[in-house]
Amino acid sequence: MSDNIISIDNRGYNFKTGQTILEVAEENGILIPTLCYLKGATPTGACRMCLVEVAGARSLLTSCSTPAAPNMSVNTSSPRVINARRYNLELLLSSGRHNCLSLGKGKGLLTDAQLDELSAKGEDVCPAYGVCELQSLAVQYQVNPDRFQASQTRYEIEDVNPLITRDFSRCILCGRCVQACNEIQVNRAISFGYRGSEAKVITRGDRPLSKSDCVFCGQCIQVCPTGALVNKKASGAYRQRETKKVRTTCPYCGVGCQQLLHVKNNRIVNVTAVEDGAPNMGRLCVKGRYGYDFIHSSERLTTPLIRRGKEFVEASWDEALDLVAKKFTEIKEKHGPDAIAGISCARSINEDSYNMQKLFRAVIGTNNIDHCARTCHAATVAGLARSFGSGAMTNSFADFQKARMFFVIGSNMTEAHPVAATFVKQAVRNGARLIVVDPRYTAIAEHAHTFLQIKVGSDVALLNALMYVLITEGLYDRQYVDTCTVGFEEMKAVVMKYPPERAAEICGVPAQDIIKTARDLASVKPAMLIYTLGITEHVCGVNNVLSCANLQMLLGNVGFECGGVNPLRGQNNVQGACDMGALPGDLPGYQKVADPSANEKFRKAWGAEFPLKPGLMMPDMITGLKTGAIKALYVFGENIANTEPNISHVEECLEAAEFLVCNDIFPTETTRFAHVIFPSAAWSEDEGTFANSERRVSMVRKAVEPPGQARPNWWIFREIARRMGATWESRSGREIWDNEVSVLAPLFAGIKYRRIEKDGLQWPVPDEDHPGTACMHNQGSFTCGLGNLVPVEWTPPDEQADEEYPFVLSTGRRLYHYHTRTQTGRSEGLNDLLGEETADISPKDAMALNIRHGEKIKVISRRGEVRVTAKVTRQVPPGLVWMAFHFRENCANWLTNPATDPVSRTAEFKACAVRLEKL
Ligand code: SF4
Repeated sequence: MSDNIISIDNRGYNFKTGQTILEVAEENGILIPTLCYLKGATPTGACRMCLVEVAGARSLLTSCSTPAAPNMSVNTSSPRVINARRYNLELLLSSGRHNCLSLGKGKGLLTDAQLDELSAKGEDVCPAYGVCELQSLAVQYQVNPDRFQASQTRYEIEDVNPLITRDFSRCILCGRCVQACNEIQVNRAISFGYRGSEAKVITRGDRPLSKSDCVFCGQCIQVCPTGALVNKKASGAYRQRETKKVRTTCPYCGVGCQQLLHVKNNRIVNVTAVEDGAPNMGRLCVKGRYGYDFIHSSERLTTPLIRRGKEFVEASWDEALDLVAKKFTEIKEKHGPDAIAGISCARSINEDSYNMQKLFRAVIGTNNIDHCARTCHAATVAGLARSFGSGAMTNSFADFQKARMFFVIGSNMTEAHPVAATFVKQAVRNGARLIVVDPRYTAIAEHAHTFLQIKVGSDVALLNALMYVLITEGLYDRQYVDTCTVGFEEMKAVVMKYPPERAAEICGVPAQDIIKTARDLASVKPAMLIYTLGITEHVCGVNNVLSCANLQMLLGNVGFECGGVNPLRGQNNVQGACDMGALPGDLPGYQKVADPSANEKFRKAWGAEFPLKPGLMMPDMITGLKTGAIKALYVFGENIANTEPNISHVEECLEAAEFLVCNDIFPTETTRFAHVIFPSAAWSEDEGTFANSERRVSMVRKAVEPPGQARPNWWIFREIARRMGATWESRSGREIWDNEVSVLAPLFAGIKYRRIEKDGLQWPVPDEDHPGTACMHNQGSFTCGLGNLVPVEWTPPDEQADEEYPFVLSTGRRLYHYHTRTQTGRSEGLNDLLGEETADISPKDAMALNIRHGEKIKVISRRGEVRVTAKVTRQVPPGLVWMAFHFRENCANWLTNPATDPVSRTAEFKACAVRLEKL
């Protein structure tokens, strides 16, 4: 029997060394009240509500900060404890304007029902009543709210931003918000300011949130125990007890955060994070917390539409489905199945992508199916599959919290994957080392110990030089390389061509910094390598990925917790769309189209023939519309008229389409060209699954009904298949996954809906007893056997700055919007936080061109021009212009270069030549 036993309320409990009394109590279901304790943050004991009586101690102790000890005897509810808590509550109530209590002056404490009545009469009732922890404790402990004279300090209510109302008259200075901001989200936007009775929580310079470093993640609201911080969008919309709560997965980035949707009368009225739910562990970012109300927009597509001349007219489902089935059949008969192509949706559930690729393969008879991974991480899928045998993130977000060393390259993670970034920042705060490599001084670079500002498109030169140092100084993991990998000598021969001095000339990082970084990297084991689109969106994207894999294998870092190669996938379900076989060369579960046995297996299951030859990739599908190779294109949920490079060219191709079909939830720039538009059910209007970056398959649940006649996408594909002669058994997302996907794809064999009700499972899951795979390639035992070290030469970007176009344009995402704003642009508040695109330029270039911050300029490339506001910022080095593609009118993709990587066919969104003109 363990010695670590503590007695709480006369019962013995085991505990782990280092646990506090509060943690042991919580673990065992013993409720100790607290108003300041925040899981994951340093205990402060500020509220003194968690006081307990410990035998032998002279005074009461705060259980949140007192370590459990062997033979300790704790009483959590002795009369002394209760009296002390009551006294503390009465003091706290005197610290502010808690009018749920003051309204009841002389009448005692008011119940929620009485407060409802007062609220209905227009009384100034605290917006947090019903969820206010202070109020419920006051009621529970039957305190006297008038025992102490209330503080006279009054603060202005601040609600000059669209999302958060702050009223410090209701604040009890528990410090939870400050800890949530600094220790959990690590945004460092607020702290305590002023002294004595004037003390309050402030931003830097005590400015309003909208003019501060606040990024509106809303974590402070989630933890505030009173009505001091209130979600402005949700406030007044409902009472907690009127809502049902539905757990689901965020519809934005590839972190896959778990949310609780608060639903009232078929509307989502609020979103909070699932406490302790993997992977986000109670955190959300601004999009996850506030970007939900797009589904209720009046602009939703609610009925099928058919083009008649230049107009769209409403049609019945039968009319529209019959027309699509008839046209597809005609084109197939006249031009063959390869004249039809489809682009699936990385935002929608796995089951939709599965049915779409099945429609194309089993019914139309072509492998012409692809999706937007082509635009972002196709290089990852190809590169990592070649290096390791599997093209997915090797490790887990849980490792981010525990890792001791990070090498982050080409990843603006604080904006593109905000919650993943919080784990990295938190680890750094707790002592981990962080090396950031990027052309821009991004927000994550502010947390780095080493920042290497490389020139755009020079990653391979830098990575080779790091490996040069590791090899020449004998710092690499020789044993790992000898036993777990092949190709070392061939790779070394190429790496030896990149001494730091040569690499320095190419990438702009001083040779000494390269040497120091290599030594640093070798000093902590394992280290995690994290990358995003700065690595993949280049004409050398696959080589960049191979190079990242080489570095980590050389260091012996792959196959271990807190190590590996970790690409952060962009869209919420881009991993899943790949997993489901919405790729021209891959069937569900990455079984190869060209593999006769895989082909045979699916032919038998689907009862239909399809070719062994891989289909076309997205760029060739789009160009094929113009050349005539493709007669019909089916675009599901993607806005390719904005997301693909060189918009003018894409629009010419779409214009030339003989037949274009779109499934979408809104009219978009792409649906303008459609001949038939199907109105789809959106996220939260259908049940299914998403797979996040770390290969975790999680539930997406139905919370509300779709508007009008909008229908689930899997149903639309099934209906077209039926009209083309196929009979498909599965009648729901659940049946599609449980009866088809997990049966046909060994990677997901052990994943069934009933097993992922809570935190989901990370594939591979070979059977129903398997717990999922948090770390792939266990200890260097790779999916492909031995890891492949592949020699990689540096090649420059396709288009370089010259006299006519002297700047390099690089592109990416910004925090407050997502892709082409079809969702975030229709979510209240987000446009207020970012209402227009900017071209970010360096102060030096701005001065040379006499451009002022906020002034309109023209950015011109060989393909087009945009007028946009200049943002002069030190984030960007001289010679670089940086833009996003969220806003149509000045979308960076009017300018970007469509040149692609020869293997992945991902375009070089990260580099093209431009010039700037002052207007
Ligand atoms: Fe959603 Fe990504 Fe934000 Fe998480 S980090 S809440 S998944 S957008």
